[in-house]
Amino acid sequence: MLVNEKKLIAYRNFPMVPRVIFGRGSFNQLEEIITPRRRNSFAPFIFFVDDVFKGNAWLTSRIPLSYGDKIIYVSASEEPKTSQVDELVEEIILTTKEKPSGIIGIGGGTLLDLAKAVSIMLTNDGDTRAYQGWDLVKNPAVYHVGIPTISGTGAEVSRTTVLTGPERKLGINSDYTTFDQVILDPELTKDVPKNQWFYTGMDCFIHCIESLNGTYINAFSQSYGEKAYDLCLEVFDSSQLSETEAQDKLMMASWHGGMSIAYSQVGVAHALSYGLSFLLGVKHGIGNCIVFDHLEEFYPEGVAQFKKMKEKHDIELPTGLCADLSDHDFKIMIDVALSLEPLWENALGKDWRKTITEDKLKHLYQMM
Ligand code: NAD
Ligand code: ZN
Repeated sequence: MLVNEKKLIAYRNFPMVPRVIFGRGSFNQLEEIITPRRRNSFAPFIFFVDDVFKGNAWLTSRIPLSYGDKIIYVSASEEPKTSQVDELVEEIILTTKEKPSGIIGIGGGTLLDLAKAVSIMLTNDGDTRAYQGWDLVKNPAVYHVGIPTISGTGAEVSRTTVLTGPERKLGINSDYTTFDQVILDPELTKDVPKNQWFYTGMDCFIHCIESLNGTYINAFSQSYGEKAYDLCLEVFDSSQLSETEAQDKLMMASWHGGMSIAYSQVGVAHALSYGLSFLLGVKHGIGNCIVFDHLEEFYPEGVAQFKKMKEKHDIELPTGLCADLSDHDFKIMIDVALSLEPLWENALGKDWRKTITEDKLKHLYQMM
């Protein structure tokens, strides 16, 4: 069939990161990259840095500060909230003479998402929560740079910033969300604790499984998803790589995994994990692992591979998370999960409601 009628399909026209630098030590080029973007001496650069790096001169001494530039340390112990973004934006407005020349996020998905959201909210009025959804942002964001220090989420390439608001956990999905510049320096990931390395790395693995096994799959997503999947296996299921090779490859896996879901969608694990996160504050990486461990029914090969890697790296996942929850609690998680319709449609097709019932989800949550 020829696709020659306008009405048939509307393909998504999505933005990619326009500039990226890759390489060990590329972080040293931050100054030369951002300097041309400084509007004037009153318009500073604001660096959001994961507070795990506070006092870590190896990293912080290389952050180029001049004029009124400043570092704001942020804890990644909780996922970003819309209220937190509002507070950070207010702090910047109150303490800088002019709108910043740029926002630079240095850290994992938490810091990258905060940097994206703040850069949007500096040029858009009102509360952050009003922009959770699809294509609600009206004005282009302030210039923003992402520098991941842990690999897996794909937040460095995506057009979303995932935020927990008063009513829902939902991204600001917009063409203005995507970073203007990304610096991929795998050396920055060298001190990630092993468990966290596994959880966030598995986020990437799960992106691949959900994208490659979804009904939205297409050659574009498949080409990125297969590459990311192979890289994950090299990193997590072979013993051939040196530490530095593994860091390099996982950083590229994250990138490709993010590109894969950009043009398809995630699936069952993410839908259920969002419920866990909303009610219990379980973080994205570990939450995905906890959920994915129970999804043989949906992703038999992916889950078998996951269990093999979990064992190889001696990872123990928490259990009994839902043991003491009330029916009301289950209902909250189930509602969050079911509201993510595109994820279910991608995973199971248009008729997903025939098999995915509230009872079924409750049963799955009870196993966690
Ligand atoms: P994270 O940013 O939450 O950090 C996890 C932990 O690792 C933290 O304790 C942090 O301090 C630590 N850490 C990070 N880098 C380190 C380093 N180099 N050395 C030592 N410790 C380090 O982790 P994450 O898994 O990358 O991000 C999760 C967040 O990403 C969630 O909020 C999730 O919603 C979001 N996310 C966003 C997207 C997107 O497309 N925007 C996609 C997936 C996930
Ligand atoms: Zn994810």
